[in-house]
Amino acid sequence: MDPVRVLYIGGLGRSGSTILSRALGELPGFCHVGELVFLWTRGAMENHLCGCGNRFHACPFWTDVGKRAFGGWDAVDPERVAALQRRVDRTRYLPRLLRRRPPPEFAGRLGEMADVLGQLYQAIREVSGCPVIVDSSKHVSYAAVLRRVPGLDLRLLHVMRDSRGVAHSWAKKVKRPEIVTEDAYMARIPIPKLAARWSAYNGLFDVLRLFHRGGMTLRYERFVADPEDTLRRISAMAGHEMRPGDLDFVEASGLRLSPEHSVSGNPMRFSEGTVPLRVDDAWRSAMRPRDKAVVTAMTAPAMLRYGYGLGGGERRSGGGPAQSGSGGESRTDGQ
Ligand SMILES: [Zn+2]
Repeated sequence: MDPVRVLYIGGLGRSGSTILSRALGELPGFCHVGELVFLWTRGAMENHLCGCGNRFHACPFWTDVGKRAFGGWDAVDPERVAALQRRVDRTRYLPRLLRRRPPPEFAGRLGEMADVLGQLYQAIREVSGCPVIVDSSKHVSYAAVLRRVPGLDLRLLHVMRDSRGVAHSWAKKVKRPEIVTEDAYMARIPIPKLAARWSAYNGLFDVLRLFHRGGMTLRYERFVADPEDTLRRISAMAGHEMRPGDLDFVEASGLRLSPEHSVSGNPMRFSEGTVPLRVDDAWRSAMRPRDKAVVTAMTAPAMLRYGYGLGGGERRSGGGPAQSGSGGESRTDGQ
């Protein structure tokens, strides 16, 4: 049987990954399923809203997936799988996950988790009929777990956005519409902590890319500047040939998006119709100069490496590892 191809969107939250994933989900042959890292908790256990508007257990797509994968969600114990996941899918386990031969006890747990995930992704492919599954889980450790799933062909897309924009976004208060039983808000992170996390998190993806060939690095700003070219390049990286008309949903005023069956993620996953595609650069005027200076100073080395200018634009010249390859906006390999 053909391996199940998974296009994995990795990176720090609020980097534009939700709208990018939804755009990819509009491509024929691509199925965007949201952040599957949270399927066992927010989906199977807590019954949050799917992107289609149904609660998880009332959604026909996920009901079918559960039946195909396990004989129904009643036939698996999501709490047990979630507990198993916590014992393998942690950033601190990355060194073990990346070893060719992990320690035997850890390898046992990892193998058990990988078997469950193998059945899950296989069922998603069968139910959706799509050769490419787009998983926007973002976490680096979950990507490292997926690498160990037999029969899964993982393509990594590491997405990043200007650190000042990301920090400003994490400092804001945003409601979570998928929780209907109470008022819940997305997590907020103080500016200096976020700046440290931005560098560390993106750096971990650079490390993962050293072990995993087949993927690319993308600046969100580049996607906004030329969505069609970016989607064409991602599609090629995912091994999928585009046909005329595949990009008709990209309009001058934004992206025309249809409902989809996504588990968890940014509130933007519920938007339908034409959604504007823009770089949210409110940080330029709304962020306090001191905060801006802190984030810039703390993330400068990585920002320059990825081709960002510290003044807020693109680097026009200069060397550095991220400038090699295809003009600084992305590095691609394994194609
Ligand atoms: Zn659904």
